[in-house]
Amino acid sequence: MKLHEYQAKALLRQAGLPVPEGQVVNGVQEVEAVLREIGLQSGVAKAQAYTGGRGKAGGVKLFHNADEAKHVAQQLLGMTLVTKQTGPEGVKIHSVLLEAMSNIEKEFYVAITLDREKANPVIMISPEGGMDIEEVAESHPERILRLHPPIGGPVPENLCKQGADFLGLTGNLREEFAEILSGLYYLFQKKDCSMLEINPLIVDRSNGLVILDCKFIIDENAHYRQKDTGGDPNGDKTDREIEAAKFGLSYISLDGSIGCMVNGAGLAMATMDTIAHFGGQPANFLDVGGSASEEAVTKAFEIITGDPKVTAILVNIFGGIMKCDTIARGIISAVKTVGLKVPLVVRLEGTNVNEGKKIIAESGLDIVAADDLADGAKKAVKAAGRA
Ligand code: GDP
Ligand code: MN
Repeated sequence: MKLHEYQAKALLRQAGLPVPEGQVVNGVQEVEAVLREIGLQSGVAKAQAYTGGRGKAGGVKLFHNADEAKHVAQQLLGMTLVTKQTGPEGVKIHSVLLEAMSNIEKEFYVAITLDREKANPVIMISPEGGMDIEEVAESHPERILRLHPPIGGPVPENLCKQGADFLGLTGNLREEFAEILSGLYYLFQKKDCSMLEINPLIVDRSNGLVILDCKFIIDENAHYRQKDTGGDPNGDKTDREIEAAKFGLSYISLDGSIGCMVNGAGLAMATMDTIAHFGGQPANFLDVGGSASEEAVTKAFEIITGDPKVTAILVNIFGGIMKCDTIARGIISAVKTVGLKVPLVVRLEGTNVNEGKKIIAESGLDIVAADDLADGAKKAVKAAGRA
């Protein structure tokens, strides 16, 4: 679950960390009252969306008086923000964070995430803040420091010092940095984060270190105990993904044209690779799991056919606990209710395969049978291209 920047900053503020004074608005009519309430003249208006790269995409705007604030809020609210991370369809902006202006002297990067190899959280620190950290990692890996604090406790003093040295901090800023690092690590653990990223952490000319932007992701296994964070577990999901989750289906929308219905994440990935091998692109990743009911299979099929990008469908099931005849019945019931607008290729293997194939053959529906995965992928790619 991702939090919006204003929600994340509320948690940071509660934990005593330095964030700019600010408040979120959902409509232009709220702007004036908010500016008065927090005593702002000039400041920054920031589009709230689950994406980075807003600055470069026009989602962060400065204002110097109330009229300008209303004007930029008007521009941002309701806009579709297209950033490097959103894809061309962009995201709709429903709220804007109004914040006090900062005077940036330096921009740093600080993040805490999980280091799976070391089975420990890792703090990443870089003096190259504000810009693309992926780029820094690639071209100047030595500009990122990695620290591994012990689980459960605070960040040890020597690690804080190492971080401050790496950023070249002097005087008061060293102590401020140690406090920020400790506060972030405390929140990371207490809020069950999988990622807590500050980019940038700035040196402000008059206020010392200030957290200017924050990406806050809570592990989805911990949603149940992080309800008071204000986050919406479905906030960054599409309608199709939300619908799929209700039926226990794992669904992720992708950019290609071949809708895939598969059982098991491993088989899903193998199917996607095989499609790509034959020159096609999957439109989604849909895993019906090991024990989906006929109803869930029907739903899965409806979700795939409801995607306008899909020009062919490949069903690839390796029946184990999930039986091929259940899949076959689900497909047929779905085709009968939602219709079949694009070519459908089906490959069944495993438990009750003969019964499954028989059900499909006797259905009288125009379904292309495939002998194996390669055959199925080839046929689906060909069908998608023709459509
Ligand atoms: P992101 O692009 O989505 O990561 O959004 P950020 O919150 O990181 O803002 C992007 C950039 O806008 C920052 O790196 C800053 O350069 C600039 N910015 C944000 N807030 C302020 C501010 O208060 N004052 C100034 N001068 N620049 C700001
Ligand atoms: Mn940022």
